[in-house]
Amino acid sequence: MSDAAKKTRVLLIDDDRDDYHLTREMFREMSADLYHLDWESDFDKALIAVEEGGHDAYLVDYRLGAKTGLDLLTAARELGCESPIILLTGHSQYEIDQAAAEAGAADYLEKENLSAIALERALRYSLLHKRYENELERKVKERTAALAAANDALRDADRRKDEFLATLAHELRNPLTPIRTSVEIMRLSLGNNTVIENSLRMLDRQVRHMVRLIDDLLDVSRITRGKLRLELESIDLAEIVDAAVEATEPFFAKAKVTLTVIIAPEPLPVRGDRVRLTQLLGNLLNNAAKYTEPGGTATVSAERAGDVCLLRVRDTGVGIPSEVIGSIFDLFTQVDHTLNRSQGGLGIGLGLVQSIAVMHGGRVTASSAGTGLGSEFVVELPKTTNI
Ligand code: ADP
Repeated sequence: MSDAAKKTRVLLIDDDRDDYHLTREMFREMSADLYHLDWESDFDKALIAVEEGGHDAYLVDYRLGAKTGLDLLTAARELGCESPIILLTGHSQYEIDQAAAEAGAADYLEKENLSAIALERALRYSLLHKRYENELERKVKERTAALAAANDALRDADRRKDEFLATLAHELRNPLTPIRTSVEIMRLSLGNNTVIENSLRMLDRQVRHMVRLIDDLLDVSRITRGKLRLELESIDLAEIVDAAVEATEPFFAKAKVTLTVIIAPEPLPVRGDRVRLTQLLGNLLNNAAKYTEPGGTATVSAERAGDVCLLRVRDTGVGIPSEVIGSIFDLFTQVDHTLNRSQGGLGIGLGLVQSIAVMHGGRVTASSAGTGLGSEFVVELPKTTNI
């Protein structure tokens, strides 16, 4: 940076050459390496210079031919100039002083009694004041942005809760129609065991579905209140895979999705809660069946990788768009509501998966090459010593 660039650049706007010489003298008395003075005598040219913004401060004479320094001040502010503008006047007049202050002048100085020291001080104070103002403005902007972000997050959470309530009502209402129909059929078919047995099976399926939804809801509420307790024991992950596969096989059969199970031959010891880990893997498998078209495939595998044991669920299903993959584990998040409505779900399964993984000292990640390209979920759990 050159010396001139480091100096405070001041533009004197004054149509009187003598005044310019006087001001220049005062600037010579000031510290020469701190200030650089330019001069402009024409009102319109001065405004062009103001608009170009090449100066840090402006000294403006009150008398500018047919116009006044107040006109220039007002025009400069209208152009968006925020630099300090100090008005200079021959004789101090209270009304002009007041008008200048209201129009945003940084100071109002009487030329007759002006010394280099007083002028330098007025410039220095105005510039400092401006710097504090800028700093304050920056902080206000920063806080406003932070508040706006917090507000957006709250609005988003609120929206998701509203959507969740609608989904919940829908999901709880859904099984009630077949339940009522079954009861009606049974009443009309008393004595016909085959019809009654079919209706009972339907009742059982629908009630189980409702119980599952309500259990998930209770789990979410326990987790968010920090009330979920794990019953830890040493387990081999192969047992978890067996239990979760057994529980979800009917879903795969119904969805016509082929499930392949691959369990590494070495021990896969973890310390965990058998019920919760089965629930975790069950949710992932359930989703693989739910979000894969008939004829597709899913693979669940368990293996060791260094200090961790991995559970992996991969499918050839609808996949997850990259823009939502980061929020897929958030509670009440569903990628496609129309699809999920027909599939049945509350958007809390993956939230539970993540909470359970984290409570076990592990983590879960999701990946997908995109819509229609399948998904993969990997759960990492700390390996313990062999059982
Ligand atoms: P739910 O399945 O009840 O909607 P989840 O929390 O289990 O809720 O899943 C959240 C969302 O993540 C689902 O609505 C779905 O959009 C997406 N998702 C979960 N698993 C898969 C998967 N295997 N393939 C594609 N999308 C999935």
